[in-house]
Amino acid sequence: MPAQPRVAIIGAGIGGLSAAILLAARGVRVEVYERAPAPGGKMREVNVAGADIDAGPTVFTMRWVFEELFAAAGADLESELGLTKAEIIARHAWDDRGYLDLYADLERSAEAIEAFCGGGEGERFLAFSEGARKVYETLKEPFIRSAKTNPLGLTARIGRAGLGGMFHIKPYSTLWQALTAQFQDPRLRQLFGRYATYAGSSPYLSPATLMLIAYVEQEGVWLVHGGMHQLAVTMARIARGLGAQIHCGSEVAEIVAKGGRVQAIRLAEHDATPVAADAVVVNADASALGSGLFGAHVRKATAATRRRDRSLSALTWKLHATTSGFPLVRHSVFFSSDYLDEFERIFAQRQLPQEPTVYICAQDRDADLHAAAPHGPAPTGPERLLLLVNAPADGDQGTISASAIEVCRDRTMRLLERCGLAIDYREDAAEFTGPNGFDRLFPATGGALYGRASHGWQASFSRPGARAKVKGLYLAGGSTHPGAGVPMAALSGRQAASAVLTDLAGL
Ligand SMILES: Cc1cc2nc3c(=O)[nH]c(=O)nc-3n(C[C@H](O)[C@H](O)[C@H](O)COP(=O)(O)OP(=O)(O)OC[C@H]3O[C@@H](n4cnc5c(N)ncnc54)[C@H](O)[C@@H]3O)c2cc1C
Repeated sequence: MPAQPRVAIIGAGIGGLSAAILLAARGVRVEVYERAPAPGGKMREVNVAGADIDAGPTVFTMRWVFEELFAAAGADLESELGLTKAEIIARHAWDDRGYLDLYADLERSAEAIEAFCGGGEGERFLAFSEGARKVYETLKEPFIRSAKTNPLGLTARIGRAGLGGMFHIKPYSTLWQALTAQFQDPRLRQLFGRYATYAGSSPYLSPATLMLIAYVEQEGVWLVHGGMHQLAVTMARIARGLGAQIHCGSEVAEIVAKGGRVQAIRLAEHDATPVAADAVVVNADASALGSGLFGAHVRKATAATRRRDRSLSALTWKLHATTSGFPLVRHSVFFSSDYLDEFERIFAQRQLPQEPTVYICAQDRDADLHAAAPHGPAPTGPERLLLLVNAPADGDQGTISASAIEVCRDRTMRLLERCGLAIDYREDAAEFTGPNGFDRLFPATGGALYGRASHGWQASFSRPGARAKVKGLYLAGGSTHPGAGVPMAALSGRQAASAVLTDLAGL
């Protein structure tokens, strides 16, 4: 290993920060280059009418990933970051005739489901949850916590661990087929089908394996004190404390390689001279390499994602607004009346949905049992909201017009009204980001927020692993193995750091 190896990390998203922490903790000289003004990537915060609002991820799960990460840096997650377990995982509505809550407590959820749907659905939910737990337990070590593999490799790992066979993870039926076999009430199929969107995918096209997300939520959804962005802020602080340099407002324009090995990075600033590096970790979307955004030397290091393979984008509105009617909790979901049509329009017709399903994060509200009371405490005056609806990742195609977005916003508001929620929407207290904006923030994505869609049983194996096809070049982030989402991106950073350390030791 070089006396004091230098590693450049491109991007201070969760994957990049995770790799930075782990490498700096091992004495590596780490320089992180981030084109945005602050670390966090998609975990960003925006100020709307004087209020700081989380504009990216809001559901924090798999806290063990961060416990392990912080411990590796000699820090303690609980002491660094305030976390409260959400008693209500999410509130779900289809119309103004009530709502269905899922709870941290499984039995309580089963009772709520039985009361809402009847017909033995509570029992079927318990069976479904047990199936989801098995899928998660089967994949946790051999896939989620391990380096990228192929179907044969996974079969061997699962077999070696004595976990039964591949059939446990249900790769060959779609999530929707599994849910149709499991539940009689179409609302429950929709509710649990929505978990596919956590991986930016359609429940009609993704494997039933994604039901594991249901278990991930049952393991615990946590509210981060001060908002999710605080996780990125804390990770950046820890990385800096270990000696990593994080340069915000620094865009990398080129990765320089010679003889098939990475040599340096070059910043986008005018006349920037190359900065030498023994290894480079790319936390930008992996597609940026194949799209040529980092220059010709590394263009073949990994392929660009084809438009048809992109995961979901979103229309998001960050609002500081007064609400009335429906008792929002931290996480509330309002479902469209034709789920199949919603996904067909997005993925097949590449249009905005006719009637969108709407997720709202009410960031001034708790998700505790007190707030579960229909008339529980609600903020008085304007509150901080993130509204999200699914959209095609065509932000680079010029096909999603401002007028189409306005129509979709009106339909969003109408759906909410149908469910009994009124939002006093004001342009001067709203900020919008859609596929075009996401494509500008996260280049080479078209606005796709989760890398490739997980469509088809092989999709999970198609994400690139930690090592790119150029020596000294590594990948970390939600577009790589093991997948999208905050904890998965952190795990990919861990994979990248481990690959860098192994390879540096061999130099
Ligand atoms: C609206 C929204 C809601 C979401 N909800 C959830 C949720 O509730 N729970 C959950 O777990 N996940 C959620 N996700 C997904 C989650 O946010 C992401 O999977 C995760 O944060 C991605 O992290 P990453 O490591 O891929 O880095 P990213 O966040 O993609 O960051 C990559 C960074 O690289 C930088 N970069 C790119 N190119 C360059 C360059 N040339 N030079 C320098 N820097 C560069 C970018 O500026 C960016 O900061 C959501 C995402 C969005 C957008």
